[in-house]
Amino acid sequence: MPSAATPPYDFDLFVIGGGSGGVRAARMAAGTGARVAIAESYRYGGTCVIRGCVPKKLLSYAAHFHEDFEDAAGFGWEVGPRRFDWAKLIANKDREIDRLEGIYQKLLDNAGVKRHHGHARLLDAHRVEVGDKVFSAETMLIATGGTPSFPLGHGWEHAISSNEAFHLDALPERVVIYGGGYIAVEFAGIFNGLGSQVTQIYRGPQILRGFDDDVRDTLAAELVKKGIDLVVETTIDSIEKAEQGLVLHLFDGGRLDCDLLMAATGRKPNVENLGLDAAGVELNDRGAIKVDALSCTSQPNIYALGDVTDRINLTPVAIEEAMAFVDTVYRGRERAMDHSDVPSAVFSHPPVSTVGLTETQARGKVGDIDVYRSTFRPLKHTLTGRDEKTMMKMIVERASQRVIGIHVVGLDAPEIVQGMAVAIKAGATKQQFDATVGIHPTAAEELVTLREPLPDPAREAAE
Ligand code: NDP
Repeated sequence: MPSAATPPYDFDLFVIGGGSGGVRAARMAAGTGARVAIAESYRYGGTCVIRGCVPKKLLSYAAHFHEDFEDAAGFGWEVGPRRFDWAKLIANKDREIDRLEGIYQKLLDNAGVKRHHGHARLLDAHRVEVGDKVFSAETMLIATGGTPSFPLGHGWEHAISSNEAFHLDALPERVVIYGGGYIAVEFAGIFNGLGSQVTQIYRGPQILRGFDDDVRDTLAAELVKKGIDLVVETTIDSIEKAEQGLVLHLFDGGRLDCDLLMAATGRKPNVENLGLDAAGVELNDRGAIKVDALSCTSQPNIYALGDVTDRINLTPVAIEEAMAFVDTVYRGRERAMDHSDVPSAVFSHPPVSTVGLTETQARGKVGDIDVYRSTFRPLKHTLTGRDEKTMMKMIVERASQRVIGIHVVGLDAPEIVQGMAVAIKAGATKQQFDATVGIHPTAAEELVTLREPLPDPAREAAE
């Protein structure tokens, strides 16, 4: 793709998008002495900081107090009258997000990155337009993230996405969450814990498709125990605005009234109006920017990373892709990010965390495996009386005895699995887990004391 701009360029690197990946790449590249600029059309911090991971987890903490107050009674505490103030929570959350955004801006400024406010559009491979200004750069990096996608059909303009959920004027009484993925189960837990009456509608037979089946079944049972009305194998056909709230018409002819409908039906890469055609940047068949292992696009001087490439859409992955990009382009150490065994968590109530292969994936990929599973009531709930279970599962490759998957549903699951992910990354075997002394009394010790594998259905079938 010929460019109208020739060296010397205004910048060595121009980053489009000030989210987790873009900011990290800009700062680190500037730290090597490169002349770097960044354009952001909204707020620094991107999805994670402004309307994703961080505010979501703050709301999730808020929702948990509901049970914490109840659970306190079992430990002898008498808690007086309780009142929840949505406006106060949102104001406090907004203050924290403002503070974090300020830190992101300061980090960029301190690194010497030139910030430009506005939508950036590539004019060709080396020129980018932001508002009425045009800049040239030797290397371009696209890190524009993703945006919620809504189902097709009548009336979806009355629904909100998670973006708006962070700014509602008041806590709605009757909430319907549509979808069965990360965002759906997280917000079902948030609204339920804060006191809304929640119905979650999912089109498939079980929520969290792609997760281990025992995780899916365990979490679904826990959501129902907490009072969420989980409706599966149902779709919303159309939505009507009523005098009070919304009327949802379901596929089976049923009707549901609610005050708020939130679509959590996936996200799509932000690729619109970026000038990708003009710059010679191709998309893949999922509508994401096509990149190679080094995050290079079909145009050799243009890179892309994070959700806009739709590889693994998680903040720490975008950050690691950014670090690999900076190593490759600015530190002379060509390095592809290793996307294997990336741990992740779903901040549902109770949370889920997982690393490595599911049982189904392992049977398909490695063949003979041993599966260990333990389900128990956490010590805390022996006094609270709460009927909430923890489920832990370990997948072991039989021939090598390597642990290739760990899946936990229950209190502190993400905090437990982060450490386990190091062991998996290091290739630890079941025997090394067994040789590790537990920390007592914890839930995590269960993972170093799993004794008997489950009966193997493949072996039983052969007998
Ligand atoms: P997910 O892809 O996780 O889930 C989307 C859900 O919507 C699925 O249950 C899907 O069903 C359903 N769905 C999709 N299209 C339709 C449709 N047209 N009609 C009905 N249902 C539909 O997306 P999310 O929006 O929950 O999250 C996006 C991504 O953001 C996640 O995949 C994750 O990478 C990231 N994320 C990570 C978090 C974390 O780390 N804790 C938290 C939040 C988001 P089906 O399964 O049948 O396809």
